[in-house]
Amino acid sequence: MSTSATLFSRAQQSIPGGVNSPVRAFKSVGGTPVFMEKAKGAYLYDADGKQYIDYIASWGPMILGHAFEPVVEAIREYAGYGTSFGAPTELEIKMAELIKSMTPNVDLIRMVSSGTEACMSAVRLARGYTSRNKIVKFEGCYHGHADSFLVKAGSGLATFDIQTVPGVTAGVSNDTLTCAYNDLVGLQELVATNKGQIAAIIIEPVAGNMGCILPQPGFLESIRKICDAEGIVFIFDEVMTGFRLAPGGAQERLGIDADLVTYGKVIGAGMPVGAFGGKKEIMDMIAPVGKVYQAGTLSGNPIAMIAGYTLLTELQHNSSIYQELEDKTQYLKNGLDAALKNWGKPYVINQLGSMISVHFSGHAVTDFATAAAANNQLFSQFFHALLDRGVYLPPSAFESWFLNNALTKEDLDQTIAAVKESLETL
Ligand code: PMP
Repeated sequence: MSTSATLFSRAQQSIPGGVNSPVRAFKSVGGTPVFMEKAKGAYLYDADGKQYIDYIASWGPMILGHAFEPVVEAIREYAGYGTSFGAPTELEIKMAELIKSMTPNVDLIRMVSSGTEACMSAVRLARGYTSRNKIVKFEGCYHGHADSFLVKAGSGLATFDIQTVPGVTAGVSNDTLTCAYNDLVGLQELVATNKGQIAAIIIEPVAGNMGCILPQPGFLESIRKICDAEGIVFIFDEVMTGFRLAPGGAQERLGIDADLVTYGKVIGAGMPVGAFGGKKEIMDMIAPVGKVYQAGTLSGNPIAMIAGYTLLTELQHNSSIYQELEDKTQYLKNGLDAALKNWGKPYVINQLGSMISVHFSGHAVTDFATAAAANNQLFSQFFHALLDRGVYLPPSAFESWFLNNALTKEDLDQTIAAVKESLETL
């Protein structure tokens, strides 16, 4: 029995399902989750000492690879000064100033401790600002586990086919309107039917929670116009895309302005952090300036701040990182494409920047329905074949893969060779 298997059976005695976040359980792909012990650069090492080339990057944040030395050193140093004060620090100002200097449309930014908190708070703020109750989210997008978002959500809810979540009241769910990703006509109808009642439209500008799904040309631009015309707050959930697709995230990469933007794990270099920010007029409604209440004991935590500040500074000063990541992802894509073509069965590769995914489908994958229609059983086999060969993909077809800049050409070649071998076993 592997150490992971032993740990998993022990974990199930004291942790629900043996994991602290559902997708980690490998429930949909089957088998035993791999328990990790350490990570460095592009590699993860499991409890049995096996090395994996990592394409999850802690679900996004490890843009420069694991245990990035400047981040590790900064955490070590700052841990010695105390881990939490419950009082403001200059570091929080430096972090806010840095994010403002890197991202468009952020006049003010408030730190929280997770992506869920960031999105939940942004929606509350939009509701307070507009005095409206409803929000629109897109099927297959995931914005964290706050009640309002657990409607037709991607990520773990899609993976486990959870349509309605016990514990979320109908009252809350009814205020969340949903529309297919990339369905502009559907959105226009929804907005017309609910005229004057929609506070916010929240979207993953490049979706990463149903595989990687790109916005079709003009889709985000049209939503921007709808929001302007209808007085709706446009929220970009950049928990995955922020600081990954460009220093200024999807706003910069795609040239679309959001009213509010949410960030997550990336800005903490993997420490528990999130943030929401945006236009001053809206952000001024947050307490203590305004009455939209939002707070957090660990918000702006000094260790999380120094970790994130160190990573973001590196991303700001070394802008060639983005081109390098793009080139590496393109190289992987070409290799995957050649291997899959040679294999001869239907597949789709979606990619933008360092986000990429493979769906086993003969049709374009542009929304949740087309992602769900793909052969996701085959994906599970593909996942395990690669895991056996030391390549760690997300354990679900409803997740994007994330590249990190510690990956070398040799790692990518090794991955492509493993993909070729794996396809032969399917
Ligand atoms: N938004 C998006 C786009 C996400 O991908 C996630 C998590 N993967 C969240 C929000 C929630 O973030 P967290 O898990 O930190 O609460």
